[in-house]
Amino acid sequence: MKVRVWNDNIHLFKQEIADKLYEVPAKQCIELEEDDANVLIKRYSPIILGGDDQPIPECYKMLRIDKDDLHRNRMHKQNKNKAGTYVCQACGYVAANKWELNGHSQDMHKDQWEDPEEAQESVNAEQPRKKRK
Ligand SMILES: [Zn+2]
Repeated sequence: MKVRVWNDNIHLFKQEIADKLYEVPAKQCIELEEDDANVLIKRYSPIILGGDDQPIPECYKMLRIDKDDLHRNRMHKQNKNKAGTYVCQACGYVAANKWELNGHSQDMHKDQWEDPEEAQESVNAEQPRKKRK
């Protein structure tokens, strides 16, 4: 997923990594895939000395990844992981396994079961019933 990479410098920032030239305008941002953004952020950028042997401000690497974008990507990944687990269809509760989900469903949503008889049976049964197809 894409993130914005901001340049906090008042000078354009340029860096070439693996034959790709990244240019981030002064005080602006570019959009990159998060992996590419991390590579760009972490890659060392050489200090360039000016005439007075002081580093020139143009070479300062003042890049950062937008925090909101990172947060959004984290949430997205979490939700994706949840999709493969046991989520209560009625309230969104995430259970550790199908037995816990079954128990939750019986405790919290007994009155919502389509077939009251079956609900009662499941409550009484020691082992969870197989899901009806
Ligand atoms: Zn629920």
